Amino acid sequence: MVIYSHSRLSTFEQCPLKFKFKYIDKIIPEIEQTIEGFLGNKVHEVLEIIYNETAKDRTFQLDEVIRIYSEKWNKDFNQNIKIIKKENSIEYYFNQGLSFLIDYFVEHSPFKDNTIAIEKKIIVDLDSEGEYKLQGYIDRLVHHKETNIFEIHDYKTGNFLKTQEELDKDRQLALYSIGVKEMFNQVNEIHLIWHFLAFNKKMISTRTQYQLDQLKQETIELIKKIESTKQFQKNKGVLCNWCEFQNYCNNHPEDYTPPNDSSCNRNIEKKSNWSLYEDEKELSPLVFSNGKSQSDIVNEVLSAIEQGYKIIFIKGVCGSGKSAISLNLAKEIGRTSIIVPIKSLQEQYIKDYTEKNIF
Ligand code: SF4
Repeated sequence: MVIYSHSRLSTFEQCPLKFKFKYIDKIIPEIEQTIEGFLGNKVHEVLEIIYNETAKDRTFQLDEVIRIYSEKWNKDFNQNIKIIKKENSIEYYFNQGLSFLIDYFVEHSPFKDNTIAIEKKIIVDLDSEGEYKLQGYIDRLVHHKETNIFEIHDYKTGNFLKTQEELDKDRQLALYSIGVKEMFNQVNEIHLIWHFLAFNKKMISTRTQYQLDQLKQETIELIKKIESTKQFQKNKGVLCNWCEFQNYCNNHPEDYTPPNDSSCNRNIEKKSNWSLYEDEKELSPLVFSNGKSQSDIVNEVLSAIEQGYKIIFIKGVCGSGKSAISLNLAKEIGRTSIIVPIKSLQEQYIKDYTEKNIF
């Protein structure tokens, strides 16, 4: 019986071919780690030391934390660690981890908060027959004896902040909470807590028993889907840039289906994303006073999307051609919703886009 993990499930959801490389073919990639992964590991290791040692009544000063982090970084860093965003230096990443730890120290020192386990292994029984199991490791588990409330803490070192809505649907910690309930008696409540270190922000969610039962079912369905999959297709996207199997993927033609709107390996700078016509005559993009054109704006937005930005503002005066920019973006992105503040603008979009064939 295969014991699943959250990352195993997520890998399949992200890209079935990556799942095959990693878990079925068990390929060990040449590039084992990205700088983001390395940074995350070092920060996790330092926090692990802090809480383990605090449990033994040791107290920490900030300069000690900085020293431990620096020593770990210098000892473990090697030239095979891949930097995807070439514009950032190694020092940039080192300083990022440092600032995460400084902010965390200021917020949480002296770290006495009823922590009972670090990197706690959890086994989750998804069904009563023991056919479907999942295992995971909780970054830090807290138990408040007086209230019998547990807290599952997870440290996030990425530059993305999830919304409360996303966390209320998040699978990983919710699954771990099922394991905690099975492991401890008469658990009163479980709080799921994320520390988004890049934002110095702590966010909390909870689940009802009904939600957890539903989650078990959904997870079993996903496992069944994985186990019945015969064709592991590529699913290209922004995350391909961080995929350790890129070389194997590029040499894997039998599963290759060139996607229409794939952003994987797209060279935004070289590609023209502009399309605008009047009376079947192609119109060039407007050029603004700062030298940028409408086409440049489209490319910049697409590039920002590839880098993971979720909210992008384009500010332009009336008549600067924002509608043409947005429709060219829609053309590149695929299915898109355009929301306008007044009815007449909606009518203009419909007229331009569906009647005049200007794109
Ligand atoms: S490079 Fe992209 S498409 Fe290829 S295996 Fe990795 S995630 Fe999948």
